[in-house]
Amino acid sequence: MTNPDKPGAHSAAAQILSDPLSGREVIFAPVRTRRPGNHEAAREAAVANEEETCPFCEGREQETPPELFALGGKSDRAPDLPGWKVRVVPNLYPAFERQQVVVHTPTHIRSLADVSDAQLALVAEAWAETAERAWEQGFDHLLAMINEGRAAGASLPHSHSQLVWLEREPPEVAAEVPRLQRDGCALCALLHDLDPALRLSERRLGDSTVSLAVSPSGRAPYELLIAPGDHLPDAFGRRELLAAALSLAAEGVRLLNAVEGPSPLNIWLHNFQADGHWHLELVPRLNIYAGIELGGGIFINTLLPEEAAVRLREARL
Ligand SMILES: [Zn+2]
Ligand SMILES: [Zn+2]
Ligand SMILES: [Zn+2]
Repeated sequence: MTNPDKPGAHSAAAQILSDPLSGREVIFAPVRTRRPGNHEAAREAAVANEEETCPFCEGREQETPPELFALGGKSDRAPDLPGWKVRVVPNLYPAFERQQVVVHTPTHIRSLADVSDAQLALVAEAWAETAERAWEQGFDHLLAMINEGRAAGASLPHSHSQLVWLEREPPEVAAEVPRLQRDGCALCALLHDLDPALRLSERRLGDSTVSLAVSPSGRAPYELLIAPGDHLPDAFGRRELLAAALSLAAEGVRLLNAVEGPSPLNIWLHNFQADGHWHLELVPRLNIYAGIELGGGIFINTLLPEEAAVRLREARL
């Protein structure tokens, strides 16, 4: 924080913003020389015959731990055989007591960008079904996330999500709880006051909407925020809205990849058991975090949100 009484405190060129959802400090420091393609991390290309050894592809069900359930198959399908559309299996190398993988498609698709809306509806169903099982067994939080690219922590390229069962909300979610209460919700306010230029897309379902926007105080270039317009805590309770949010996330990945080429990224759901306002955060991993971010908790974003929105909009044309 700057101290107005201290000489030279105002000499810094950039202004520190506080992200209203998390309280995270962000500095926008645009780098004029940074052009598309000139980034520190890129998504690795497919290796030759990658799909011939992929354990997530249909036909190789025996190479994962036995499935927990699958969706989209015939009712008489036996487990761990072909004939599914979305498959949920335990993580082979779990860090937690319960950590599961949702395989998004039977065919070898490498990015959420290329997963169809019909498949994403089944992914939303798999997340919600898993949440119900977690609540039944006394867990209090399900952390759902999608990692794409090695630089973002993905070990296998076939599109999938991870579901981690937790006994309580993780720190990043806990930090948002007091800021996203119904009375004075920072996300309701953000969506209400959002610069229309940052709003990229929207899905309407009856009276409800879900929108995709460039985060006005994102920690990373092209950071995106996906949220329902209504103040809703639990994403798993309205599967069609969650499916719409995943569809918007896929759209966001398509736009990002069109501007920067295939990019490593993380997407996660912040969900709330009591009061809160659920949302997906999409964080491209084009830059490498250094001491100022990890040691100081101050994130330097080299791309202004307005400029990110212009580039992403132009990518759609
Ligand atoms: Zn595969
Ligand atoms: Zn809200
Ligand atoms: Zn959040």
